Amino acid sequence: MRVTAQASLLVALGLTGCVGFHPLNPSWGRGAADASDGTGASGSPAVFTPPAWQTIGYSHEGRPLQVCRLGTGPRKVLFIGGIHGDEREGRITAAELPRALAEIPGALDEVELVLLEDVNPDGTVQNTRGNSRGVDLNRNYPADNFKPSRFFGAEPLDQPEARALHDLLLREEPDLVIVLHSWRGDHFINYDGPASHLAERFAMLSHYRVRPSDSISPTPGSLGSWVGNGLKIPILTLEYERGREPWAAWSETKDAILSVIRAD
Ligand SMILES: [Zn+2]
Repeated sequence: MRVTAQASLLVALGLTGCVGFHPLNPSWGRGAADASDGTGASGSPAVFTPPAWQTIGYSHEGRPLQVCRLGTGPRKVLFIGGIHGDEREGRITAAELPRALAEIPGALDEVELVLLEDVNPDGTVQNTRGNSRGVDLNRNYPADNFKPSRFFGAEPLDQPEARALHDLLLREEPDLVIVLHSWRGDHFINYDGPASHLAERFAMLSHYRVRPSDSISPTPGSLGSWVGNGLKIPILTLEYERGREPWAAWSETKDAILSVIRAD
């Protein structure tokens, strides 16, 4: 019954593509306006056709978890725009990234980008770190260090949002995962798994320093622990400074993000 209602809602909203659809991210619409109004250096219109959203699951409160996909290259990158609902400084980054990647000649032949805009839409709406049940979706994965708790979940993957991301990861088998967060009073790039060279590259191009996981408090059951240390897939955790203006956050990390997405 609930799923049927959600499906009807999707149809009513017009599931035609990223632009103008996502209720949490008005920038998609802005991007479309920019693209259709803009002209390239030659005077011809700058055209970017945004990819269509796919729903990979639903939050506790029935909000869709949405994925966009673009590019056909052999290198696959999963980019996660948000996981803590009170850390949305990266929302413009997630919104602008597809167009920025598409504007690089040849990039879409090198890379397939899978973009999960927000794995915690209930938390985003409520401006809370956890989901609507108060569970931290960055502590609910089947890592060796998972710790059962009211705030981390009774067992790994007992939250639908975490399950959807888990299944997406296993289906896609990306070469790199990038996830956006924000941190009070600091900004840096953190990594888990075989990603130190990518973190260094990111630091060089953004002037965000590398902060290794062992310099941060333990994060049991985190996405980084599971993906990086468990699956051995490189994962970069980008921590914007809490309260950073989202367009500034994007502009100061754009080159670094595009570089690590394309790097081998
Ligand atoms: Zn966070």
